[in-house]
Amino acid sequence: MRVFTSLDCLLHNPPFEILDGDKSEWLESPARIEKIKQVLIKSERFKFEQFIRKNTLLISKLYTTDGTQFEKKVDIRVSEGRSSSGVIPETFLHFNLVDSDDFSTHSVAQVGRFAFDMTSTITKDTWKSAYAAVQCVLSGANAIMNGGKTAYALVRPPGHHSTQDLCGGYCYLNHAAIAANYLSGRKVILDVDYHHGNGTEKIVKGNEDILYVSLHADDDYPYYTGHRNAGNAINIPLPRTTTTDEYILALQKAISHHILPFRPDFLIISFGVDTYNEDPIAGFSNVDRGMYTQMGRQISQSKCPSLWIQEGGYHMETLGDIVKDVLSSYMDVLEI
Ligand SMILES: [Zn+2]
Repeated sequence: MRVFTSLDCLLHNPPFEILDGDKSEWLESPARIEKIKQVLIKSERFKFEQFIRKNTLLISKLYTTDGTQFEKKVDIRVSEGRSSSGVIPETFLHFNLVDSDDFSTHSVAQVGRFAFDMTSTITKDTWKSAYAAVQCVLSGANAIMNGGKTAYALVRPPGHHSTQDLCGGYCYLNHAAIAANYLSGRKVILDVDYHHGNGTEKIVKGNEDILYVSLHADDDYPYYTGHRNAGNAINIPLPRTTTTDEYILALQKAISHHILPFRPDFLIISFGVDTYNEDPIAGFSNVDRGMYTQMGRQISQSKCPSLWIQEGGYHMETLGDIVKDVLSSYMDVLEI
């Protein structure tokens, strides 16, 4: 399996986050990439490659929040003599708050306009990492478009919560949506992250060439989305107490009832592994390590070239092994 990653993905590293109302370490850390790499690099089945630079217009066409805007917001904040460690919004552009279209140009207000929560701190390095992640994803997409059976983009920050113009949930640019728009033909985005990919659903909504299928926890972050099917979005909310067997059954049904009948040319997997019961910020309470080999085998039934894009997963002790379990069992079935 070709693995696309970049050292630039390690740069974005805000010093803290607000979790459950408390100041906490930034859990979506650069070490996540290193932990996964340390495990995969020991196996000859995974070939690490540097990304190939692709057309940047693909990003600016999809996103109004381009790199210049990101950097400008941080620069302004620093020049004001405030924190240089990152900008966190204080207020959001809530529909009940706004009294006119004459929006404030204050830097904190500007950041609040382009974020929907406080877990998307913008630092001087954020754009570099987000941009490198997109380049890795597009390189992976190129690999499967040119006849490869599968590819893996080992990237961070993750992407599936970000919409065209909103950061949130550690996400800044939506990699799965960018890949789906880049690839030709019919595409399924299968989102197995613990959380609903609200951003992906929003961006691909109404696109008949793309089917979004998400298995995620009910009544958990981002709370307001993912409760029902809508057009080309199949949402499968699962109770937090979901067991390994129940999850695999739900995945099996999603593949046979929705993915196979859609007849995709490409499968994009929003590959979050924060479903594991020991994950510090997520996790179904009865999903154990044994689930991940079954997950890989199930996904192999979708029978089309696949692009795996790293999303969540925060249990550092097992993160690399879980990723390897899924990808190895997927390749075992397909004899890759
Ligand atoms: Zn997640």
